[in-house]
Amino acid sequence: MADVDNTFCGRIFNQFASDNYAGICPEAWQAMAEANRGFCTSYGDDAWTEAACEGIRDLFETDCQVFFVFNGTAANSLALASLCRSYHSVICHEMAHAETDECGAPEFFSNGTKLLLAAGAFGKLDLAAVEQVITRRSDIHYPKPHVLSLTQATELGTVYTAQEIGACSELAKRHGLRTHMDGSRFANAVASLEVSPAEISWKAGVDVLCLGGAKNGMALGEAVVFFDRDLAYEFEYRCKQAGQLASKMRFMSAPWIGMLKSGAWLRNARHANHCAALLDRELSAIDGIKSMYPCQANSVFVEMPGVVATALRDAGWRFYSFIGAGGARFMCSWQTTEEDVQLLVDAVKLAVSRA
Ligand SMILES: *Cc1c(COP(=O)(O)O)cnc(C)c1O
Repeated sequence: MADVDNTFCGRIFNQFASDNYAGICPEAWQAMAEANRGFCTSYGDDAWTEAACEGIRDLFETDCQVFFVFNGTAANSLALASLCRSYHSVICHEMAHAETDECGAPEFFSNGTKLLLAAGAFGKLDLAAVEQVITRRSDIHYPKPHVLSLTQATELGTVYTAQEIGACSELAKRHGLRTHMDGSRFANAVASLEVSPAEISWKAGVDVLCLGGAKNGMALGEAVVFFDRDLAYEFEYRCKQAGQLASKMRFMSAPWIGMLKSGAWLRNARHANHCAALLDRELSAIDGIKSMYPCQANSVFVEMPGVVATALRDAGWRFYSFIGAGGARFMCSWQTTEEDVQLLVDAVKLAVSRA
């Protein structure tokens, strides 16, 4: 495979662009292979899917209702749609994936529920700002606030502590709102905080969690986890109508069993976080490179001179720079190695020395 074209179907080596660039981890791959022995019932009516749901209930130590969908956009949109009526609104951070990267899907699937934005440092909602959005109007002309949506870990690689989540959901509850969590990188938050999954979800007042699989090492798929079962009413119809009911569901659900049983979900997240922490430390030590946010999960954001970023790209490195001038995001995954980190650090040092 060594001579495969690097720009087409081949492997890309110098990448810190996304945790989605990584492949399928061995534990998820093996579970798919095991699910591939012979015939099996379809549309989620199978033993793999039942066991995967059971595994997620065990993980969260509660009798939650679980659904599997293809991706995070569907998970967030359908979860929010099931919480809201069309005249409701969802309050989220201005950097939230639901706002910036879901092409209006939450509004579309909820038939018009509006996202209202609140600010907050480091990608985390500021409670005073949230309360202001909730209370600034109470008249019939304002889309009625009904859900508070948090992202854990955040889009900026920070994490909410259990206490902070509790304070968010308290505030939400006080004003009659439900709490949704976009947990596309929930495992990274668990690894970072060294808490149980329950402590930063339902025990902290989260009603619905969209639990990420793809970025954690699976091929695809996210779990929508309803801690309040009433909120899951007819959710299976929403999934089907949205084109999210996999006919060969076992290949989407079985990997969860492999990930949970082997502990790979947490191991992968710990590893990705470890690589990010290492990278953050090494890059911040370089003259002219400045870390932008506390590195608490698997991403590193730094400010670097434009010429350095250009030199890195010219050398084949891939990364995002969507957070304003001079900001670069480097994302680590289960597949990132310490050697990859060192290669990037060396490349940055070289680019800085020539700048
Ligand atoms: C990646 C991501 C998602 C899921 O995105 P899809 O591409 O739809 O799977 C959701 N939320 C956040 C914060 C993400 O980073």
